[in-house]
Amino acid sequence: MELYRITPGSIVDLSRTNPGEKVAFDHLTKSSSKKMLATMNRELSELQRLLWSDGDQALLVVLQAMDTGGKDGTIRKVFSGVNPQGVDVYGFGVPGPHEAAHDYLWRIHMRTPAKGRIGVFNRSHYEDVLVVRVNDLVPESVWSKRYKQIRDFEEMLCDEGTTIVKIMLNVSKEEQKERLQARVDDPSKNYKFDPSDLSSREKWEDYMVAYDDAISLTSTVDAPWYIVPADRKWYRNLVVSQILIDTIRGMDLAYPEPEFDLAHIAIE
Ligand code: AMP
Ligand code: MG
Repeated sequence: MELYRITPGSIVDLSRTNPGEKVAFDHLTKSSSKKMLATMNRELSELQRLLWSDGDQALLVVLQAMDTGGKDGTIRKVFSGVNPQGVDVYGFGVPGPHEAAHDYLWRIHMRTPAKGRIGVFNRSHYEDVLVVRVNDLVPESVWSKRYKQIRDFEEMLCDEGTTIVKIMLNVSKEEQKERLQARVDDPSKNYKFDPSDLSSREKWEDYMVAYDDAISLTSTVDAPWYIVPADRKWYRNLVVSQILIDTIRGMDLAYPEPEFDLAHIAIE
């Protein structure tokens, strides 16, 4: 999945990416991908057990995307099969008054995963350099300092035992049109329609620039960004699953040594 990992220091330009490509699993189609996803679901489930039993490290998965980018669907499909007891999913919306009374990382830090656990952020502190920047919710003198603050914050989490993986689901403007239209047309999807999605869509280019900067300025060795082609849902699910599997495999986890001499224990 190195294909999609953003090397620290590189300059991201989302306008030059192809959200519709499927090179990493080119031999698969939507229907033939199902078996592979099921295999990956099982593997992720095993790795979650290992992470939990090891108990010394945590995994934080940050998911960002434009509206309709597929954050909810990714969580549903990628974590299906993983023990819900070990995963904390948290969605960050517009800060409430209590949250807004604090610095922007306060609510984030409260939700970072405990050791042994997987934390999934559906939106994150990155909104504070995306929606906040695009809509001038704070002055540039404030948001421009946040990239370094975020790098430092993530470095601290990492030093303290949390592996961080950040994933941008890269959906095209054309695909977003289809998905928004479906939310209008399909009664079972109406509940997902939010008129504010239309004003974000009008600012698509501004968002892309904000994403380019956020990803370029905060992809580090310890907390890398991945830009995942997301116009094909099945492909997105496989790529995200593979990224998480590779990440946990790289965490140097082990089942703990038994604290008792099991050789001398016999269950009558
Ligand atoms: P949803 O993910 O569809 O439930 O929408 C959540 C909304 O909250 C999105 O429109 C986000 O842009 C918005 N949001 C999340 N974090 C922030 C933030 N820090 N400041 C302002 N808006 C935010
Ligand atoms: Mg929404």
